[in-house]
Amino acid sequence: MRQERIVSIGPLPSHIVQALREFGEVVCLPDASRSEVLETLDERVILLIARGSVMVDREIMERAPRLRGISRTGVGYDTVDIAEATKRSIPVLYTPGAMTQAVAEHTLALMLAAVKRLFFWRERLLERDWDARYRETNIDLEGASVGIIGYGRIGRRVRGLLRPFGCRVLADDPYIDHSLYREDEVEFVDLETILRSSQILTLHVPLTEETRGMIHRGNLWDLPRGGVLINTARGAVVEDLDLLWQALEESHLSVVGLDVFPDEPPSWDHPLLRHPRAILTGHVAARTFLAQRRILETMLRDVVRLLSGESPPSENVVNPEVLGDH
Ligand code: NAD
Repeated sequence: MRQERIVSIGPLPSHIVQALREFGEVVCLPDASRSEVLETLDERVILLIARGSVMVDREIMERAPRLRGISRTGVGYDTVDIAEATKRSIPVLYTPGAMTQAVAEHTLALMLAAVKRLFFWRERLLERDWDARYRETNIDLEGASVGIIGYGRIGRRVRGLLRPFGCRVLADDPYIDHSLYREDEVEFVDLETILRSSQILTLHVPLTEETRGMIHRGNLWDLPRGGVLINTARGAVVEDLDLLWQALEESHLSVVGLDVFPDEPPSWDHPLLRHPRAILTGHVAARTFLAQRRILETMLRDVVRLLSGESPPSENVVNPEVLGDH
């Protein structure tokens, strides 16, 4: 029996399983709970593919003392304790860039559905309320102020997709060199200003200690009345769903477009889920053919390199400083 094992939290397509078998037995745990993951880990495990929402923390890493890598299929790595992995010299691989276009497209879809009120108009039509068109109007993207919080890969791509619409684009990202983005025609401002100035606000920050709850009861009301909030980043960047529901009820926000929720899946009974002005999708922005193919191809290529003793590209490693340790 082989000694090495590769454990995947979450399903893997059969061609990926087949390719990984070169390095050991592959165990897939499609819907594993934390306790199932813990039970499966032991000293045979050399690679953990962390696709689900189980937190890969010290307890998990301790159970697999021969772990040579942790691989995330995606760009968010808030489910891995990076400091702990780094302390143990375990490289954490991810696939930034593989889903940039798909998530930016989804963001634009939510934005357009929100300002053109697609769901509202469908309801009016089903109610045979033709005259609603004389009472209600849509929002123009042309000339609208769009605020992008987090001007990284996805935020910047959203700006690119917005180009033909003729919006005024603002961005808040204190961690980048703004002078590198002069050609983007973006006004870089701080959080306070972007909130006060954006009719449409879209979130593209990672979930960190700093960004958790960054949109909260104390600042959401700074947005201009009737604003639109789009979140395809991480649900917990907004304080909670009650806040969004309240902002819709008070018509402070006209529409909310979300692909992500503080808890996933969200509480099925939450009134926001049935709010007529909430446009909601269940964390599917990256679930496109091209994005999924790129994610899996990148993951496989980098994992094969790692397990063959070569270094994966440092831009696909969250903690590249540990690469030299192997
Ligand atoms: P990225 O790292 O390229 O960009 C994130 C940007 O946020 C960086 O430029 C960073 O400087 C900035 N930032 C960090 N903290 C900030 C703060 N406090 N204020 C303002 N800006 C801040 O990441 P990306 O590829 O653009 O992805 C962004 C996020 O989108 C990911 O972290 C992930 O959570 C989310 N995402 C969601 C899906 C989905 O399926 N809905 C898919 C992919 C990514």
